[in-house]
Amino acid sequence: MSQDRIPLAGVIGSPVAHSKSPRLHMHWLKAHGLPGHYIPMDVATDDLETALRTLPRLGFVGVNVTIPHKEAVMKIADLITDRAALIGAANTLIFRKDGKIHADNTDGYGFIENLKQNAPDWAPKSGPAAVLGAGGAARAVISSLLEVGVPEILVANRTRARSDALVQDFGARVTVVEWVQAGNMLEDAATVVNTTSLGMVGKPELRVPLDGLRPGQVVNDLVYAPLQTRFLREAQEAGCTVVDGLGMLLHQAVPAFERWFGVRPDVDAATRAAVLR
Ligand code: NAP
Repeated sequence: MSQDRIPLAGVIGSPVAHSKSPRLHMHWLKAHGLPGHYIPMDVATDDLETALRTLPRLGFVGVNVTIPHKEAVMKIADLITDRAALIGAANTLIFRKDGKIHADNTDGYGFIENLKQNAPDWAPKSGPAAVLGAGGAARAVISSLLEVGVPEILVANRTRARSDALVQDFGARVTVVEWVQAGNMLEDAATVVNTTSLGMVGKPELRVPLDGLRPGQVVNDLVYAPLQTRFLREAQEAGCTVVDGLGMLLHQAVPAFERWFGVRPDVDAATRAAVLR
C-alpha cells in the first residue's frame, strides 16, 4: 500500500443506513482538516470475515461494528482488549500495519464520559446503580460502573438467565432483581440506567413503574432515538438529573477516531449539532 493513501474507516452492520457514525466521523475529519473518509457498509454475516480480511488491503485503518456483528467479530479478531473480552463484544476494530485485527469495546468508556460531561456532579461511589436490561450494552455499562467504583449494581432483565450470567461474569457486586420488580430497585439507586431497547423508535415503551425516582438521582437512557424518551421525561419530572444516550455514542467514537486518524477529537456542541442535523 502506498504511503500517501487516504485513510478509510467505516461502520459494519446490517442494517446500517440509520447509523449516525458517518456524520460524526466526517464532521471531525472536516473540523480538523484531515484527509479521510468514513463509510457505512451493510455486510451480511456470511461475508463478515471476507470483508474484514479485505478492507485493510483497500486502505481501511479500522471499522466500527454494530448489530448484528458485535459478538461475531470477536472470533475473527487476532487481538482482543481485556474490556472487550469481559463484555464479550467489540464495537471498534483497528487494522494494524502487521495485518492483525485488534478488537476493542469503547461503549463503557463512552457511557462514563457522557455521564461525566452531562451530569458533572455525578458521584458514582455515592450509592448503588440500577440497570434495566442485560444485553450487550448492559455488559459494557456494568463493567464500566464497577471500574469507577459503584458499590453495588442491581440488574433487572426480562430474560432472567441473561441477568444471572452477569453475576457469574462480573461478581458479587451485581445483584439480580426480578423484571416484574424492576420498579422497586429504583428507590435506593444513586444512578439509574435504561440499557434495554424499550422506548426506542419502533419498539414498545418501557413500562417499569417509575414512582420510585426522586431528586438527586442521575438517570440515563442509552436510547437516543428519540433523544428524549418517555423514561427521561418522567425522570426529569421527578426531579432527577437526566442524561440522554447521544453523548455515549459521541464519546465511544473518540478513542477510535484518535487511533485511526491521529487526532483526539472533542465532543462539543458542534459535534452534537453535526450528528443531529
Ligand atoms: P441487545 O443485546 O439486543 O439487548 C436488548 C435488551 O433489551 C435486553 O436486555 C432485552 O431483554 C431488552 N428488551 C428488548 N425488548 C424487550 C421487551 N419487549 N421487553 C423487555 N425487555 C426487552 O441490545 P444492546 O446492544 O444491549 O442495545 C440495547 C439498547 O442500547 C439499544 O436501544 C441500543 O440502540 C442502545 N445502545 C446505545 C448506545 C449509545 O451509544 N447510546 C450504545 C449501545 C447500545 P431480553 O434479554 O429479555 O431480550
